[in-house]
Formats: sequence, C-alpha cells, structure tokens
Amino acid sequence: MLRSLLAAVPVLILTLPALARSGGHGPLTVRQLAPGVYAAVGDTGRGSEGQPNTGFVVTDSGVVVIDAQSSPAHAQRLAAAIRSVTHRSIKWVILTHHHPDHHFGTIVFRRLGARVMAHPDLRVLAAEGGEDALIADWVRVVGLDAMRGFEFADKPDRPVTATDTLQLGGRALVVIHPGAGHSPGDLLVWLPRERVLFAGDILIEDGVSMMVDGSSAELLRALAVIDSLDPTTVIPGHGSIPRRPRELVGQTRAYVTGLRSSMRTAIEGGAPMGRALQSLPPADENRPVSLNSRRRRNAVRVYLEEERIYMGLDSAP
Ligand SMILES: [Zn+2]
Repeated sequence: MLRSLLAAVPVLILTLPALARSGGHGPLTVRQLAPGVYAAVGDTGRGSEGQPNTGFVVTDSGVVVIDAQSSPAHAQRLAAAIRSVTHRSIKWVILTHHHPDHHFGTIVFRRLGARVMAHPDLRVLAAEGGEDALIADWVRVVGLDAMRGFEFADKPDRPVTATDTLQLGGRALVVIHPGAGHSPGDLLVWLPRERVLFAGDILIEDGVSMMVDGSSAELLRALAVIDSLDPTTVIPGHGSIPRRPRELVGQTRAYVTGLRSSMRTAIEGGAPMGRALQSLPPADENRPVSLNSRRRRNAVRVYLEEERIYMGLDSAP
C-alpha cells in the first residue's frame, strides 16, 4: 500500500497545476504603474494556471492591497514587497473575487490590521464540496508549507454589491461590481485619476476568461463596463499587463461572442453537446484552468446557456 502510494507521488506532482510550488520563495516582481500604484506581477505565459497578479496603492494614510495572493506564504511575500516600498500600515485589502488563488492569503493582512472590502457573495464552484475539501485541494496546489497559518478571511468588513468609493489619504479607489461574469463576487478596482484598472479574472492575458462560475452575458456586460472606463493601464487577473488594454478587452469579447454563436448554431442544427464540442481539444487532466480546459468548460457552460435560450427558458440578451 505504502509503496503504491509513494509510486503515485511523482505522477501527482507532475500533473498538479503549475501554480506556485515555488511556495513563497524569492521576492515578487513589483512594477510601478503610476505614482504610488504598484502591481506585483504573478506568472505570465500560463494563462490562469500560475500565480495571479496583485497590486497595492500607497496613500498618505496607509496602503490598500488589491487581492491577497494564493496562500499565507505568498501573502507574506507580497507584504515584504510592500515593505520594500513603504512602511505605512496596510489598511485595506480589496478582493476582486473569491477564488482561492486570489484570497487565500487574506488572513496575513487581517493579522496586520487590515480590513477587507469584497463582494458578499462568496459562492464558487471550487467550494461546492465544502471548506475542508477546498483547503485539501488547495494544499495539493500550493503545498502544505505555503498554507501554514491559513484561515478563511474573505468575508467582507465592507461589502460591495454595486459601486463604492474608498477614500484614503487623498486617493480614490472606485470599487465596482460589474455583474457576475467570472464569478458572483466579481469586483473591479478603478483608480479614476491614474486611469488604472485592476480587472481581476474578468481579463486573463490570453483572452480566454473563465465563465463557469459566472455567465457569458454577464462577462460581456463586464467588458462593456471596462470599455466605458477607458483605462490607460489594465492589470488582468493573470499574466502580463497588456500594452493596449482595449485590445485585450476586444480579444476577450471576440472569444465570448464567437463561442456563443458557434454553440447557438450547433443547437439550431440539432447537435447534441458532444458533437458541438468535438472540434475542441480535450480538457487537460488535473489542470482545470489550463487553456484547453478553460475552452472546453466554457463551451459546456455556453452550450447550456444557449440551449435555455433556444427552449425559451431564458431570454436572449
Ligand atoms: Zn478567478
């Protein structure tokens, strides 16, 4: 029994998501986007499989952190990066949503005295098996060491369900719920004076945002909100910061509308889901957010959406 378990270990490690087995080693790369506005850039070139992007804003009255990293160890790295820039206290953490890679480090900032701004809808598919199962799954992704000291800490002190402006030390951070495109608890963080937008996972560097916790109609609505803000700089939830924000928004919109129209055509032609999906490569085993997995899971979601519209259960947006 033990032998077979041990034999299984290397395979497991190889097939785990590539996220952060680096488990909090080495400093974070921090980029200044505007005076006092920083992005800690996660892994690029991996779509949404790597460490997410986070950010922080230094004001005269303290620091606001945007997203809290994927584990307490990763959050410690972010805290160290903030300390390398300022010794002002960390007052707030704003969470762009409630997926574990974006909030599992929140407890570190709470222990430093920060309060949390987030959407109060904490539901995500990944947590359907309960909190213990979610933690166990996540330990397999980031490793046990990285999770030392973990506690859930994403329940907001200041819930945002529409729009709320956080004023701190002469700065304004506008926190907007643009609908449930990526997840029910999505928030955008917008700095109007600096024209910098933290988009969370509504945008991913490769343009293939996940809709399985949200919906395609709401994602399109969220993209329209981003366009209406007309940001100069956009920080996607994962991956490199695009040179031209509008292009990434446009690429994401083209992907979503293209998927919708191909699923609609399939349904109108009487194709069952299996046939509608057959041109897509299979999802990658043990990599639920790889590009192939995202494309297939999104297609399943959108097929079901279009089927409901076709049957008259939902109205076409
Ligand atoms: Zn997410």
